[in-house]
Amino acid sequence: MEKKVNILFQPWKKLKRLQDEKLSFFIRRYLYPFSPYYRKLLDKHKIKPSQIKRVADLGPIPFTTKKDLINLQKSRNPEERLSILLKPSEELIKKYLPKKEALKFLLSSILKGKQHLKENLEKEFRPIFLTATAGTTSQPIPFLYASYDMDNLKIYGKRIIDVMGMKKDERTLNVFPFAPHLAFWQTVFAGLASNVFMISTGGGRTVGTKGNIRTIVKVKPKFLIGTPSYVYHILKTAKERNLKLEFLNRIVLGAARLPQGFKRKMADLLGSMGAKDVNVIGTYGFTESRCAWVECPTDIGVSSGYHTYPDREVFEVIDSETGQVLPEGQDGELVYTGIDARGTALLRYRTGDLVKGGIVYSPCPHCGRTVPRVSSDIVRASNVKSIQLTKIKGTVVNLNNIEYCLDNDPEIDDWQIEISKKDDDPFEIDQLSLYVCLLKEAKEDTFKERINQQMLSQQEVTFNKVVFLNNKELETRIEIEEAVKAKKIVDRRVKN
Ligand SMILES: [Zn+2]
Repeated sequence: MEKKVNILFQPWKKLKRLQDEKLSFFIRRYLYPFSPYYRKLLDKHKIKPSQIKRVADLGPIPFTTKKDLINLQKSRNPEERLSILLKPSEELIKKYLPKKEALKFLLSSILKGKQHLKENLEKEFRPIFLTATAGTTSQPIPFLYASYDMDNLKIYGKRIIDVMGMKKDERTLNVFPFAPHLAFWQTVFAGLASNVFMISTGGGRTVGTKGNIRTIVKVKPKFLIGTPSYVYHILKTAKERNLKLEFLNRIVLGAARLPQGFKRKMADLLGSMGAKDVNVIGTYGFTESRCAWVECPTDIGVSSGYHTYPDREVFEVIDSETGQVLPEGQDGELVYTGIDARGTALLRYRTGDLVKGGIVYSPCPHCGRTVPRVSSDIVRASNVKSIQLTKIKGTVVNLNNIEYCLDNDPEIDDWQIEISKKDDDPFEIDQLSLYVCLLKEAKEDTFKERINQQMLSQQEVTFNKVVFLNNKELETRIEIEEAVKAKKIVDRRVKN
């Protein structure tokens, strides 16, 4: 388990050296020998594992994309399907490990027997757990963990709890939906590893909002962790019932990019139920990384960025067009390399996530941690859709940006976007509809014009239809109680 010295506070120079060493070691000792996929890739491009001595040497290695992973998944050959996993054998050890390293293994095999070596390798490498991508648009892709990765999941969990500033005697309610998703399990393991009291209810589908609120009233948690829509729904329901929640003032949300307006709405809501000094903390993670990163608590208007783990991964920011690595602080696409993985191991994985403000390497001004921080202005890869709003040509619409605008809007309580075909005719143009519930102070007649003007100037689209709903009607539409993920954006166009 983690050493006594808190690695997240070590001088960056020292951390950087450690990161370079671990990267080089990982590729030589684990990735190249035991990952059929990456051995083939490096061989094909004539890159020797010994050439990679530091992060700066990664440049010539081709990126791995989501499409590559989907193609592997589709393969009929089971060996190819699993080729992205680390799978050692005595033969591979003899053939690919540096001599000194190989000798260690083989010596233990001679002294303690072949069975002993096999058992040891199995213990370290056998996949025992998985989380999968949510798979709303494509087949879910599974990511496998060996027991070594489970230990890492705990280490990340402990760091998350530390960065969020949770103390031993503070309680937490985890309302992430119970599913084989990273968010749920990372949170559970964070609680287990940190020796803090946490109840994981499984969200709305298991115990219902009533059950969650009953638990909040009984347990009095300081922290509430879950998806933005569901946590907001719980708080609104509690408010309707005139509950006092003065003990609850740390909201942690599974959302990489939280609009300030949304943070403010949450804080105001909690404030009206008696809470003071409310912090709303964002988290970033993707199934492929098998871990999550968090912001440290700050005022509503500022974000610390995500505190990363340089001893466990390497982040690069690249120009999405050219693939060139960009310097500190520049906008670009996040690329992830795990340097302490078993199970599914990824090298230079293109996340597709675009980060404004890139990565910074100066110590965090809020908590003093010295680790690289990824800006929290991240536009996720999902939800970029081609929409044909006119007969002329399709427009690529980034629904993430629209989502951000709507969440940030001071007049909107909740919303849903629907994409459909005009008159439900598959040959017609697309239509964009907004179903919206406004906050009490807002006026319907002025809203429609304002929101469309704003959409036009910021997103270059307008809603063909704006439908006003009350809270109940909207919550039924987004299936807040039943769905694993609230249905905020629905695409009703006929699938080709
Ligand atoms: Zn910080």
